[in-house]
Amino acid sequence: MESWNYEIFWKETVNIIKNSLSREEYSMWFNNISYYSSSENNLTLSVPSNFFKDQIKQRYISRISEILEELSGSKIIVSFKVNKKENEKHKTNKKNLIDVKNDNITEIAERIVPKKHPDLREDYTFENFIIGENNSFAANAALAIAKNPGRAYNPFLIYGGVGLGKTHLLQAIGHSLYRKDDLNKKIVFVTAENFTNEFVNSLQKKNPQSFKNKYRSVDLLLIDDIHFFQNKEGLQEEFFHTFNALYGSKKQMVFTCDRPVSELKNITDRMKSRFEMGLNVDLKPPNFETRFAILKKKVESMNKTIADDIIELIAENVTSNVRDIESALTKLIAYAELVNKKLTKDIAQQQLVDVFSNFKHSNVSLDIIQKRVAEYFNLSHIDLKGRKRTKAIAFPRHIAMYIARELTEYSTTEIGSEFGGRDHTTVMHAIQKIEGSLKSDPTMEPIIHNIIRLVKE
Ligand code: ADP
Ligand code: MG
Repeated sequence: MESWNYEIFWKETVNIIKNSLSREEYSMWFNNISYYSSSENNLTLSVPSNFFKDQIKQRYISRISEILEELSGSKIIVSFKVNKKENEKHKTNKKNLIDVKNDNITEIAERIVPKKHPDLREDYTFENFIIGENNSFAANAALAIAKNPGRAYNPFLIYGGVGLGKTHLLQAIGHSLYRKDDLNKKIVFVTAENFTNEFVNSLQKKNPQSFKNKYRSVDLLLIDDIHFFQNKEGLQEEFFHTFNALYGSKKQMVFTCDRPVSELKNITDRMKSRFEMGLNVDLKPPNFETRFAILKKKVESMNKTIADDIIELIAENVTSNVRDIESALTKLIAYAELVNKKLTKDIAQQQLVDVFSNFKHSNVSLDIIQKRVAEYFNLSHIDLKGRKRTKAIAFPRHIAMYIARELTEYSTTEIGSEFGGRDHTTVMHAIQKIEGSLKSDPTMEPIIHNIIRLVKE
C-alpha cells in the first residue's frame, strides 16, 4: 500500500508563503494552522475554528493550492479539520477546559473543488458590494455594463485610492457575465502586472503570437491597476494594438487605476486618450452610513453576531478605506475567538488601539504635512482640513496640497479626501496655482522649502 505524506510539502508551502506576507499577517493566520493528515492527493490541515477555516479559504487557499501543485507536481485537494483543541492552546489563562466534550468534535470541512471562474475571487460579486454615495455612480455604471457589454461604455475605467473597491467592482462585472453567459464567452481578468509578465515571457520564448492570440480573442477584458503600465513603452505599444482590436470588435474592456488617467506619467498620449474614451469614474472613501452597512454585511456573511455598538465603534474609527475596515473587523473576531471571550465594547476598544494606530501610521505624512503647514501659518489643523474658503485659509491649504503631492505617493483623489472630502480637480487646481506662483513670486520658494524641512524633521 502506498503511503501518502504531504507534510513536507506543507512545510515548504508555509515557508514560501511566509516570505510574501507581513510578519503580523503571517503569525495571525499561519501560526494557527497545522498539518493534520494526508491521503492520495488530499491534504488535511487543522485549524482552530470555523472562522479560521473560512478566512484561510477566502484569503489563501488559491495560493496554497498553487504552491502545493508546483511542489508536488500534482493537484492536491486541501481540506480542513476544525480542531477545538488547537483553540485551547491559545487560550491565555483558562484552566478548566469547558470544552472537553468538544475535544473530539471534529469536522472535515467540505472539499474545496473550484468550479468558479479561475481568475475571479468568489466573493467579489455585485451582491456583496454595498452601494453608497461614494460609489453609486461607479457601481451603477458597472451594472449597466454587465447588462450590455461592449455597448454602454467602452472602455470603462474605475479609479481611486487603495482599498476602495476597484478590484471588487471590476471582478463583479466578470462574475455577472460569466454566470449569465453560455460559458463559451472568454472572460479574462488579469492584473496589469501579470499582463506585462505574460507579454515579456512570450517575447523571451520567442512566441509573441501566443500572447496576441490570447488577448485579442477575448470577449471581456478586465485589467486591474493599469498605472502599472507607466514607464513601460514596449508593453504600451503591444497593449495599444490589443485595445484597438477589441474595441473594433465591440468587446468590452474594463480597467482600474489608482489615479485619474490625466495624472499617469510616462504613458503615451494615444494610450491615455484611449483610456479616457469611454467612461471614467472615481471611487471615494465611504461615509459613516456606508461603512456601517459594509460592516453589517460582512459580519452577516461570516455568520457572526456582533453588537451594533461595536460595529459602530469600528465604523466611527476606521475611516480610511474599506480594506482597513475589514481588517479591523477580522482582527477583532480572531482575537475574541483565540482567547475565547465574548467580544465586548471594552475588548474591542482595547484591541482596536493597535489597529487604529496602525492605520493612522500609514497616513502619517498627510497628517504631519497638514499640521506643519497649519503651525507655520498659525491656523488650526481643523480649519486647514475643513471647508472654510477664506483667503487666509485657502492659500495655506493650497500649499499643503502641493507639498502632499510633492512628498507622498498619494493620488490627488486621496489627498482631496483628506482635505475635507474635496474633489481631485480641486487638488489639481491648488497644485497648479502654487506651481504658477513658484514661477512668478520669488518669495514662494523659501516658504515651501521651509515647510518641507519642518515636515521632514
Ligand atoms: P481596491 O482594488 O480599490 O484597492 P478592493 O476592491 O480590493 O479595493 O477592496 C478592498 C476590500 O474592501 C475588498 O475586500 C472588498 O470586497 C471590500 N469592499 C470595497 N468596497 C466595498 C463595498 N462597497 N461593499 C462591500 N465590500 C467592499
Ligand atoms: Mg485593487
